[in-house]
Amino acid sequence: MTAAPKPGLSGVAPDELARWFEARAEPAYRARQVAEALWRGAAVTPAEISALPGSLRAALAEEFEWDTLSDTETRSGDGDLTVKAVHRLRDGALVESVLMRYPARGARRERHTLCISSQAGCAVGCPFCATGELGFTRDLEVAEIVDQVRHAARRLGSEGRRLTNVVFMGMGEPLLNLERVLAAVDALHDPARFGLGARHITVSTSGVVPGIRELTSRGSQFTLAVSLHAARDALRDVLVPLNRRWPVAEVVAAARDHARVTGRRISYEVTLIGGINDTEADAAAMAELLRGELAHVNLIPMNPVAHTPWTASEPAVVARFASRLRAAGIGTTVRLNRGVEIGAACGQLAAERAGEPAPAAVARRRTLLVRSSAAALRGERAREPLPLGTGG
Ligand code: SAH
Ligand code: SF4
Repeated sequence: MTAAPKPGLSGVAPDELARWFEARAEPAYRARQVAEALWRGAAVTPAEISALPGSLRAALAEEFEWDTLSDTETRSGDGDLTVKAVHRLRDGALVESVLMRYPARGARRERHTLCISSQAGCAVGCPFCATGELGFTRDLEVAEIVDQVRHAARRLGSEGRRLTNVVFMGMGEPLLNLERVLAAVDALHDPARFGLGARHITVSTSGVVPGIRELTSRGSQFTLAVSLHAARDALRDVLVPLNRRWPVAEVVAAARDHARVTGRRISYEVTLIGGINDTEADAAAMAELLRGELAHVNLIPMNPVAHTPWTASEPAVVARFASRLRAAGIGTTVRLNRGVEIGAACGQLAAERAGEPAPAAVARRRTLLVRSSAAALRGERAREPLPLGTGG
């Protein structure tokens, strides 16, 4: 019989941890020392926390996993401005996090944003996304989510720098792992733990309407990003298959209520794919859909991923799309896509590790995408079944 896996320490709820210290009759300052080492220190194992007595170090190592990620491999791009990390979890699953550095510019202080994963793989199956192509493996535990942040903070700390922003835009659909993602957000936000302001945390969803409504009922103050990609159902059915369960109007209605209740502006993300969702008609439909919303749109040219017949929109087309939205009074930013040469779009590196699929399967996938997007551009809605595991 194998022993039950040890819980990751960073995912243990504060009251539970307090009870553990109490049961061991440890004074309160010991718990604070452990928290300091866990959330702000450089120690990679409890054995390295020299301020603690040996017995406590041993007990921590015995009962908890100090770090749930192992064998992390990093790869830099954009002259070291983008650093991608692939982490191995204890069951061998691989997840990615991407650190983006934004050097100080004028009065603007430097920022370091980490993009983290909430699931190994993803069941939603957006065809332009490498994670979508991998399919779903499993939900991440709270500690597995939070430890990606601790890992990057340690790397930055060794240079005397601080992590300033966390975005849930790596692998997985955060609102399909809602309870754990919210517990991870709490840990990142809590001043006694990681201590990041709510406005420095963004959770991105492909449009899980009940999840958005749950966030609204809890009054969540972090930024909600919605991956929109298309305003017309026929096309969004292809680009974000969950659209067949929660159509775009329902997604935008839920996001609107969220903005009204929380007072927080929604970020809409639009990955622009040449000749697919960047046409005049698409820009016009999006302008109509979002006119008057408390919202901001980020346009991101598609990061090229293997096994799609698609490429990024031309810069002039992206600029035209942006002007069309701005003319409707919608704040719009064009984002550079970072880390193209290191495959920093979510899931790309893990997909590389998973090995190349059979050429015939790749050819079938491309043909299907060409056919379904052409039908969508004619306004026909897809009839294929929903991907597995999305509750459809
Ligand atoms: N599942 C969530 C969060 C993770 S994906 C969601 O879809 O919102 C984070 C963002 O990366 C999404 O906006 C997604 O559309 C975008 N993305 C995925 N693959 C991409 C690619 N190849 N190029 C550009 N953006 C991509
Ligand atoms: Fe999943 Fe987001 Fe990728 Fe779509 S874009 S497959 S929802 S991770």
